[in-house]
Amino acid sequence: MPITEREEHGKDKVSFRCSDVGPKNCEWQISGNSEAEIMPKIEQHGREKHNMKIDEDTRKKVHSAIHKKAA
Ligand SMILES: [Zn+2]
Repeated sequence: MPITEREEHGKDKVSFRCSDVGPKNCEWQISGNSEAEIMPKIEQHGREKHNMKIDEDTRKKVHSAIHKKAA
């Protein structure tokens, strides 16, 4: 039976790698149950480790770099 993609499925996990947006040599990554859950941690990491300003543009980059993966 083929596995169908269901974007609105509540149990999809999300993951994010810092190097997709920030410095390529940063190996920090995070995963969680939703974008809303990990976003604050991504912002905190960016601020504390890279002195990144988290503005709307940065959020867009982060948003497009967050990967959904099946649980
Ligand atoms: Zn980083």
